[in-house]
Amino acid sequence: MNLINGNELAQQVRTEITDTINKMVAEGKQRPGLALLLVGENPASQVYVNSKDKDCKEVGMYSEIRRMPAESTQDEIIAVIKEWNADEKIHGMIVQLPLPKHVNEFEVISTIHPEKDVDGFHPINAGRLLIGMPCFVSCTPAGVVEMIKRYKIETKGKHVVVVGRSNIVGKPMANLMYQKNEYANAVVTICHTGAKDITQYTRQADILIVAVGVPLLIKKEDVKPGAVVIDVGMNRIIDETKKSGYRLVGDVDFDDVKDVCSFITPVPGGVGPMTRAMLLHNTLLSATKGIY
Ligand code: NAP
Repeated sequence: MNLINGNELAQQVRTEITDTINKMVAEGKQRPGLALLLVGENPASQVYVNSKDKDCKEVGMYSEIRRMPAESTQDEIIAVIKEWNADEKIHGMIVQLPLPKHVNEFEVISTIHPEKDVDGFHPINAGRLLIGMPCFVSCTPAGVVEMIKRYKIETKGKHVVVVGRSNIVGKPMANLMYQKNEYANAVVTICHTGAKDITQYTRQADILIVAVGVPLLIKKEDVKPGAVVIDVGMNRIIDETKKSGYRLVGDVDFDDVKDVCSFITPVPGGVGPMTRAMLLHNTLLSATKGIY
């Protein structure tokens, strides 16, 4: 078994981005800028937004966080997005999800200018991905492709099975893998809760990508010997031996599966850090050559 080290790869990506930004600034160009919108006080969202802000500052990007109360109206939220759409120092923006229940996420995300939609959630970017046009790709699937690329994992003609069909992970992941491109061109199967028995599909995977949010769902019986296993899941489970009282695990039972597969991503230290690195990558892309 070979470990796919997401921390190490993410550090490589961040170093490349830092070098590019230093060069841009030395040439008198504007720093890439990312704006982060946090509505309400969800503790996990606060942690995510603060770490994205910190990541930006570490690579020399401009970043700002706008914190709005949970009772903000949809119009007030949309007004902030419109302000950033028109702001030249902001090259990308993210709206931290979930939004409070009274706000329509789709309406809010659709207000982001597609050229500043560095999360790749805008329907225009999602649609362009589907038809193989240049677009911002959602950071988690983009990070998985970057792992596949940097570990030189062959994808052409391979059977990729994606478990999970969310709009931010499963669907874009599957859409990326069957495109007629390098680091793709695979045959793709998507599993979800409608499947009666996912094992019959996962066992056929040369590359198994799991994004379901069910701790330790995938066991060795679910994996074809020699498969590449990418675990997107990030789940907290109770662990009284830890000071925090919990530990993070993936959707794959790493200890059970590790001796069956050829490559595997750990949790933590796998897809998570790559997701964060790809947000920086997308923001830099927006500030330099852009997408369209
Ligand atoms: P989500 O929106 O809840 O979607 C989960 C998907 O998995 C759904 O399509 C669901 O099917 C499917 N599913 C759930 N249980 C299943 C089962 N037993 N068998 C087959 N399919 C099943 O979740 P998500 O946002 O995609 O996130 C998935 C996981 O990835 C979570 O643990 C999340 O924390 C993690 N995540 C990690 C990162 C990262 O950076 N590492 C980024 C994003 C998400 P239905 O459609 O039929 O309901």
